[in-house]
Amino acid sequence: MVEIQRNPTRPVRIGTVTIGADNPIAVQSMTATATQDVESTLAQIRALHDAGADIIRVAVDSKKDAEALAEIRKLLTCKGVRPNLAVDLQENYRLAAVLAPHVDKIRYNPGHLYHHEREKPWQEKVQFIAQSAAEHGCAIRVGVNCGSVDPAKVEAFDPDDSISPMLESALEHCAALDELGFTQFCVSLKDSDPQKVIEVNRRFAEARPDVPLHLGVTEAGMPPEGIIKTRIAFEQLISRGIGDTIRVSLTVSNARKPEEIEAGRSILADIAAGRVRSVVDYGLSTLNIISCPSCSRVENEAFVELAEDVKRMTDYAKDHDITIAVMGCRVNGPGETDDADLGLWCGPTYVNLKRGTETLGQFGYDEILSKLKAELDQLIDARGGAVAG
Ligand code: SF4
Repeated sequence: MVEIQRNPTRPVRIGTVTIGADNPIAVQSMTATATQDVESTLAQIRALHDAGADIIRVAVDSKKDAEALAEIRKLLTCKGVRPNLAVDLQENYRLAAVLAPHVDKIRYNPGHLYHHEREKPWQEKVQFIAQSAAEHGCAIRVGVNCGSVDPAKVEAFDPDDSISPMLESALEHCAALDELGFTQFCVSLKDSDPQKVIEVNRRFAEARPDVPLHLGVTEAGMPPEGIIKTRIAFEQLISRGIGDTIRVSLTVSNARKPEEIEAGRSILADIAAGRVRSVVDYGLSTLNIISCPSCSRVENEAFVELAEDVKRMTDYAKDHDITIAVMGCRVNGPGETDDADLGLWCGPTYVNLKRGTETLGQFGYDEILSKLKAELDQLIDARGGAVAG
């Protein structure tokens, strides 16, 4: 076993699990069923719980979702099952008050606190969330995501610097929670590029060694590549004592979601045993397909199949330095495809195709692959057909 000196983070209790302060690194996952489909969501929570998930996150975007989650908690309690539940809030921060009695942690995204009640300062919204959490003994996660960073922070930095806006946004929210006297929080800083995940988390841990970190590579994609990308980031961070809870985000069908827990545990076991891969020349010198792990917001169940088809169809271009992003919904799809050479994000009956930030059109699920191939061929031609050396 390797002796890893963990960062001296403070303990944060999430239901029956405590993260930080040298506690074992907790492994978590997220449901991908429609939250209002109580039966399916309940079944997925149970499957993740049975697979050993320490914390299970559920997305809630509306009052109806919130009611469904409350009902799910009730049904679980009746069956004598008590998973640690985290809610993933999107724009409607006020749902925190409705949900706090039923969950153990509330995740909010600083970049999403602008959409509702625009005239209200974000500090007041954070105060509302913190008050709701404190009243019911919930923890909070400040979840900063590369595709939806606080616009004010993005504007304040060089467009080529995507790390500083994320970092500053996280630090600002930590300071706001400090000022409120709320200590039961952790932070996550996720990007789809493992190298950026490493850098931003290292910088954060240096600035705030007391705050527990939730690690993850967002839109890591399908196994095995998705696991490899995540493993690279986790090896670099956890071996330096950074990280108190993890999630491996994988694009897999609902039935295979527990694989996220298995992958997380096996990465942790390998790091602890010193079975660490050296960081091979990972990077963007070959085809890189990023795809979101899907969640209850996914707009068409065909998304996972589409992501698999994209991977198969683009195999011929595997030696080209091109990034293709495949996203499941309109909440994060438009922003998170901006940095890719080619992007797809799913609507209910159509898929949006993008080249960089430019939208090329909307196409049916049966025609999108041929459109993507045409764009990919054009891109390879435009770059002189050169493959990575
Ligand atoms: S892009 Fe949409 S569907 Fe995919 S994980 Fe993010 S929120 Fe969920």
